[in-house]
Amino acid sequence: RSMLRGLNLTRTYGEGEVRTTALRDVTLELQRGQLALLMGPSGSGKSTLLAVLSGLLEPSSGQVISEDNGRMLDIWKLSAKQREDFRLRQVGFIFQGYNLFPALNSRQQLEIVLRWGGVCTAREARKRSDDMLGLLGLSKKATKKPAQLSGGEKQRVAIGRALIKNPKYVFADEPTSALDWENGERVIEMLRAAAHERDATILVVSHDHRIEPYVDAHFYMEDGMMRSHDRPAQPVEPTF
Ligand code: ADP
Ligand code: ADP
Repeated sequence: RSMLRGLNLTRTYGEGEVRTTALRDVTLELQRGQLALLMGPSGSGKSTLLAVLSGLLEPSSGQVISEDNGRMLDIWKLSAKQREDFRLRQVGFIFQGYNLFPALNSRQQLEIVLRWGGVCTAREARKRSDDMLGLLGLSKKATKKPAQLSGGEKQRVAIGRALIKNPKYVFADEPTSALDWENGERVIEMLRAAAHERDATILVVSHDHRIEPYVDAHFYMEDGMMRSHDRPAQPVEPTF
């Protein structure tokens, strides 16, 4: 029961002498309700793959198939308008630098996402935003702007913004890289809870090996190729 599949994806940048192949025939499956980790050296194609899977960057060839209740959707066969709609409704992003709006407070960062998509009324947006701030442990920071928040708090607001529409897919680029491990672990636990409890499909790009024990699936890229997609080692059961 696969939720998102990339099939034989290739992507090149530029022409002639400056032509770079960022993805070479990459195939992968992301399962519903799972938190997956994508690792690999710098320049191996991870960001390109994230952008292709999330509908932001067109692959040179290959398909991205979203499966929903047995219905298959090839997101790169949709019209630009349909694909934008797909992204708006089904996809959440967590960017490396948080990408919060400097002028908005924490509650407004969340409300605006619901208002833009026309997902709900102002009253409902307010309620859902406050509920999410509660889940994130940020109720007391509702009226603070990014400049008044710590790195961990900003990252939690960014996560709330990605999750508030209950997207099917969430993509996170180095979500813990700017955080100490106490905050990093908290972030990963929230993503794991979102995958397991909200049935979201989450792909995290990271260099942080401390994340490995928390994930359900593990992908490793090298030189534009998918080298392995093993399950991570399971935590050892205590023995008595
Ligand atoms: P990673 O995220 O693993 O660091 P990227 O997907 O960013 O890898 O990059 C893969 C390859 O594609 C690298 O060789 C990189 O230099 C190249 N690349 C990425 N984006 C562009 C771009 N916009 N124009 C040209 N080359 C690019
Ligand atoms: P705690 O630190 O005690 O887990 P939290 O307020 O961080 O308290 O979270 C309460 C519960 O909600 C936990 O089970 C947590 O994993 C889950 N949770 C937190 N944030 C989210 C979220 N954005 N989406 C889904 N579940 C979440």
